[in-house]
Amino acid sequence: MKRIGLLGGMSWESSALYYSLINEQVRERMGGLHSASCIMSSVDFADIERLQHQGDWAGAGELLATEARRLESAGAELLLLCTNTMHKVAGAIESAVSIPFLHLADVTAKAVLASGINTVGLLGTRFTMEESFYTERLALHGLTIVTPDAEDRALVNAVIYDELVLGRILTGSRNRYQAIINRLGQKGAQGIILGCTEIELLIRPKDTPLPLFATTSLHAKAAVAAAMT
Ligand code: GLU
Repeated sequence: MKRIGLLGGMSWESSALYYSLINEQVRERMGGLHSASCIMSSVDFADIERLQHQGDWAGAGELLATEARRLESAGAELLLLCTNTMHKVAGAIESAVSIPFLHLADVTAKAVLASGINTVGLLGTRFTMEESFYTERLALHGLTIVTPDAEDRALVNAVIYDELVLGRILTGSRNRYQAIINRLGQKGAQGIILGCTEIELLIRPKDTPLPLFATTSLHAKAAVAAAMT
């Protein structure tokens, strides 16, 4: 099994979930006492959030590229960036290392297509929902992306940065997300991408009749499959 390198801390709430899911996947596939061979570099999310909101994406890319090189030097054979948003600087990270990089939008798009869906709603940070780096990557696979309207996008984004990255899972926010998911369904979405690694801590399959594509779970599963080939 290849050693998985996790570039995490964005936020650590979802990185903890990655760690559990990857180990559960290995146990499911290999049984016995098997667990994942992995290394995590966990950054200080306050530094990342500051760079995001200053619009210093070059600085953020350099910081994450340095961490990716550290993971490769430490023996990682496969690299995962444990956040959708920071895939905005995936190019800087990918070009800093020679190990394979498992792009989260590619993993997600393949899962959506495999379920027979081609029009899908997207929830995530405002960067992920509003900028092209993520939606265009999904569209390259032939998907049509439906995003919430401006007011709903602001709410989805605020819940992520004010609650979910701090481990605050609130019923009121779950209800508001459910209403937004219903509106995406009315706009034609046949399923919903939980395109922020913390959203699956709030929204579970039982919370909506629409199929969910939970990016942390999909990424963890794809990483273990790749590590075993
Ligand atoms: N974990 C989040 C994501 O998947 C948001 C935190 C971040 O800004 O990186 O997009």
